[in-house]
Amino acid sequence: MGVVAANIAALRQRIAIAAEQAGRKPEEIELIAVTKTVDVPRIREAMAEGITSLGENRVQELTAKYEEVGPEANWHLIGHLQTNKVKYIVDKVALIHSLDRMSLARELSKRAQAISRVVPVLVQVNIAEEESKFGLYRDEVIPFIEEVRSMPGLKIQGLMTIAPLTGDPEEVRPVFRSLKELAVEIGNMGFPEVEMRYLSMGMTNDFEVAIQEGANMIRVGSGIFGERS
Ligand SMILES: *Cc1c(COP(=O)(O)O)cnc(C)c1O
Repeated sequence: MGVVAANIAALRQRIAIAAEQAGRKPEEIELIAVTKTVDVPRIREAMAEGITSLGENRVQELTAKYEEVGPEANWHLIGHLQTNKVKYIVDKVALIHSLDRMSLARELSKRAQAISRVVPVLVQVNIAEEESKFGLYRDEVIPFIEEVRSMPGLKIQGLMTIAPLTGDPEEVRPVFRSLKELAVEIGNMGFPEVEMRYLSMGMTNDFEVAIQEGANMIRVGSGIFGERS
């Protein structure tokens, strides 16, 4: 077995254990393989192991790989999205994890309508209020959703966060818990156009804690493909 296949097998076991600890089924957790800096042959190795969802954080890298791999994979845009790049990916992405401002919502709505598509999006939340990170602050999320929810061409399907980098994932447990609480609060508001279906949180170093706190979509790169150079 190759390294990528072995990593995926080990990862699936850890996902199953974390899911069980949280009283949930492993199948409820969607694994997004983060393929930034990873070449197409290695992406294909992961796909041969049953990986169907790929996450890229840069538009240019996503479109370049999309030319080779195509719609056989579900493409997730997980990084900051510049408004002027929306047009390159609006027809390609299964889910955008990084809706974080009104100008982006407007552009997405416009471009999606132009191709008669409804693009699924997650609202990115900067729970820890880190200056270096994108995302709305917790307090801004509900007013934002109230404004964006009825825009044609996009559909809010949940929330995403990137937890602070830390040596001990226990330190970021409150971040994950807070995002989950926010998703429940929004769900309870009962907006007809909004679904709180996905909670995208957890990466290589913290996905187990994220799953325990309610993640059902995790984004794992180095845990599958090794350290990025
Ligand atoms: C790179 C990246 C990941 C994956 O990080 P790993 O630590 O390699 O698992 C997840 N989410 C986002 C937004 C990223 O940019």
